[in-house]
Amino acid sequence: MKSTAPANAPVIASQATPLYAPSYPADVSRVVSILFVDQSGQLGGAEFSLLPLAVTWAARREVLLLSDGPFRTRLESLGVPVRVACDTRVSGIRKRAVHVNWLMALPGIVRQIRTIARHAESFDVLFLNTQKALVLGALGKPLHRKRIIWHLHDIMSGDHFGPLQRLIVRWLTRYAVDHVVANSHASAASLVALTGCAPEAVPVVHNGVDLNEFSHVDDADTGALRRRLGLPEDVYLAGLFGRLAPWKGQHIALAALARLPDLHLVLVGSALFGEQAYVASLREQAARLGVEDRLIFAGFRDDMPAWMKAVDVILHTSTEPEPFGRVIIEGMAAGRPVIAASAGGVTEIVRHRKNGWLVPPGNVEALADAIETLHAAPELAQRLADQALIDVSRQFSVEAYLEQMKRTIALATGVAAITNAASPASA
Ligand code: UDP
Repeated sequence: MKSTAPANAPVIASQATPLYAPSYPADVSRVVSILFVDQSGQLGGAEFSLLPLAVTWAARREVLLLSDGPFRTRLESLGVPVRVACDTRVSGIRKRAVHVNWLMALPGIVRQIRTIARHAESFDVLFLNTQKALVLGALGKPLHRKRIIWHLHDIMSGDHFGPLQRLIVRWLTRYAVDHVVANSHASAASLVALTGCAPEAVPVVHNGVDLNEFSHVDDADTGALRRRLGLPEDVYLAGLFGRLAPWKGQHIALAALARLPDLHLVLVGSALFGEQAYVASLREQAARLGVEDRLIFAGFRDDMPAWMKAVDVILHTSTEPEPFGRVIIEGMAAGRPVIAASAGGVTEIVRHRKNGWLVPPGNVEALADAIETLHAAPELAQRLADQALIDVSRQFSVEAYLEQMKRTIALATGVAAITNAASPASA
């Protein structure tokens, strides 16, 4: 790839000297100690992608959370040491925050920078998993002087982030972050556009799913599965999985539901970041459209494989480009046909009419047509689902994800990766 950076521009802050001799044939996860930092106590895509990495990291590691919540208990139940350093003023800052918002949070910001820096002292590497973690961890670099790896899970466009946040990210990426790894080419390209850094400086590792979790759910008797989950039997059922938020587009699915009188829809997920007004608007929309009796709000669920296998078709309706979209690879792993909004990282996963169905984001008519088409042609739906299962096991397995993340961290730290076993995920 051609670099967009000027010849002598700093790409990412430093291509720092190796922690260990580059030729040392070791598993990086056995020799490099890591402090992982994540801003959220909630379970979202970024947290589900950190989970297997933190669980399987064999050297000393700890997860520092900037908010408390179910992510902490999940990590603890899997034997990962966790610390929570919460400051409500900082956790209240939103993505599109304006200056005043930041200024009011300043004392809390300083405290969290210091806390992260203090904890980082006894680790080799600081792994920053989210936006706030990036800002707070990287601003403290003069205090901790640790090598910083940032896992980018966002599309850094002006649609998603305010000007100040983008400016801070640009500055930190240039002067404090040593290495970045992005969850998709869409996320990587947005950082390249924002910072002018070389594309080679932002390697991409796609998320992966544990296929065993899906194969353990017996879906031979969908009726029994639906009865167990309290879902209607013997109806054509679509499922939309993910947190309830305006840009996830649940309102688009409701509008499609109104056009298809035979369809039932289950929304699995809850408002994780205070989007209660949106949930209320969805209920109002359902009442207005007269679809309440064909719509189920299932709330946040822990057993996604069972819920996904209980539906006939899986919908993804994000109205803005999705940075990656774990729910899509999960739907593919569940062996169900997926209809997805064609933008961002989604197009790196779904191939139209090959392993799924792509529709333009926010287009109710196209979504309703796609659902109708797959309902009317079960063999086509099955063929897409079969191919999706093959693709996900080849390109989006948790094993491939871990192998590539470890290889990336090994390169970042100068430790040679141990294994050449898994093939690279689709790049
Ligand atoms: N999820 C879950 N239970 C729910 C809703 C969502 O476990 O009720 C999980 C879902 O399986 C996926 C993650 O939350 O692993 C959402 O990740 P995605 O990348 O799709 O979206 P994000 O929340 O990161 O925008």
